[in-house]
Amino acid sequence: MSHDYDLFVIGAGSGGVRAARIAAQHGARVAIAEEYRIGGTCVIRGCVPKKLMVYASRFADEFADAAGFGWTVGEARFDWATLIANKDREIARLEGIYRSNLAKAGVTILESRAEVVGPHAVELVATGERITAGTILVATGGRAEVDERLDGVEHVVTSNEMFHLEHQPRRLVVAGGGYIAVEFASLMAGLGTETTLVYRGEEILRGFDREVRRHVHAELERRGVRIICGDIFSRIEKTADGLDVTLRSGGRLVADTVMMAIGRRPNTAGLGLEAAGVTLDAKGAVVVDAQSRSSVPSIYAVGDVTDRFNLTPVAIREGHAFADTVFGGRPVTVDHRLVPTAVFTTPEVGTVGLTEDAVIETGRAYDVYRATFRPMRATLSGREERMLMKLLVDGETDRVLGCHIVGPDAGEMVQLIGIALKMGATKADFDATMAVHPTAAEELVTMRVPSERHPARLPAAAG
Ligand SMILES: Cc1cc2nc3c(=O)[nH]c(=O)nc-3n(C[C@H](O)[C@H](O)[C@H](O)COP(=O)(O)OP(=O)(O)OC[C@H]3O[C@@H](n4cnc5c(N)ncnc54)[C@H](O)[C@@H]3O)c2cc1C
Repeated sequence: MSHDYDLFVIGAGSGGVRAARIAAQHGARVAIAEEYRIGGTCVIRGCVPKKLMVYASRFADEFADAAGFGWTVGEARFDWATLIANKDREIARLEGIYRSNLAKAGVTILESRAEVVGPHAVELVATGERITAGTILVATGGRAEVDERLDGVEHVVTSNEMFHLEHQPRRLVVAGGGYIAVEFASLMAGLGTETTLVYRGEEILRGFDREVRRHVHAELERRGVRIICGDIFSRIEKTADGLDVTLRSGGRLVADTVMMAIGRRPNTAGLGLEAAGVTLDAKGAVVVDAQSRSSVPSIYAVGDVTDRFNLTPVAIREGHAFADTVFGGRPVTVDHRLVPTAVFTTPEVGTVGLTEDAVIETGRAYDVYRATFRPMRATLSGREERMLMKLLVDGETDRVLGCHIVGPDAGEMVQLIGIALKMGATKADFDATMAVHPTAAEELVTMRVPSERHPARLPAAAG
């Protein structure tokens, strides 16, 4: 039976756009539906606008540090409206590039919400039109979660709105401890907003190495971010002075803006997937196999909607692998091991491989190589700042299992360390690599003596 298209992609974000373009290049007839803006979360309201704001937030340090190097800088003032307008212009430019790349590849763009109405059929919500396709790719991403039961929840914003606030808040309270919450707290504080982060857990950045978590916590506090762990919001009230946030502990905070960044959920609500027979997990994520195929053979899913590694490069890789597998006659399985990643706080985090807790869980012998030091630039600037570098090495095989960096350019460094780890580098390989001097990164190849050695632990006897 012939269909309107070979492939119908729902969602023009990182994963969907890549899959659509590559499938079209393989000769497939492709349509893509987008309900908001072409480019998806990363380009429109995620990685890209955030990084632009992070850059903006770091100029205050540059101006302050310049004095130690002999510069006199006049009074520096920051204008929120200029940043937002310039950022919006850049995002519109990128959106245009995404759109034209899709068009050049011959992909039909349909600007509407699309819902699945069968294993080979979708419906465009804008027009009610039904379209059939041999394969459907669900690439609808995720959305910010909000605690709907919270008294006063109507007063909160999510990361989506933070990119478009009309005025810079003088006082901001952020709920959450994941990378999005922590990045926003850091960047807004850098821009001069009085910022408090409230996190229900024991320590921010759950899932990262414990030393990284403590280090970032201390450095953010040093930079003026107030961090409250072990507490949550119990109520938000609007008063003449702003938003009054009551904490479960009884504490009170007053803010102009309250941001909630307590997690993200796969975007599958109302998508018609369950009715079409697609299995979703408890969080609503599409359950897929190694080739991104769902429980319905003609329906695939990639990116955040599958809740594997919710990062742009992973979504892109999954989209590309899907297109090569299904339309390129070349089965590709994405390797989800050793995904390097960064947290764009100031100071930045770069991390790849296992955390120390994950290494401990394996029971193997391991060595820790650790360096904490003051970056060279901080000597003349007089800035109180420490950098952290940590390598976790297998005690038997000498393989580097994990690398964790906190400090300037950590994200850039860990991209390259990721290659070494992917190639199976040992500590001896690191030692054999000549240092680049004077850099901070040279510490990674000059840590000769382990800071700690841990023997193997026998697996607990079965009860
Ligand atoms: C604030 C923030 C900062 C981030 N920073 C980083 C970072 O620094 N590095 C990094 O790697 N990742 C970052 N991420 C994560 C990254 O944005 C996602 O992992 C990535 O965008 C996932 O791509 P995707 O294709 O799965 O989904 P998305 O990019 O979310 O695209 C999904 C698209 O589908 C559309 N859509 C949804 N439902 C429908 C429907 N029914 N019909 C039509 N269209 C629909 C949406 O409008 C959206 O455009 C960040 C995310 C956020 C929120």
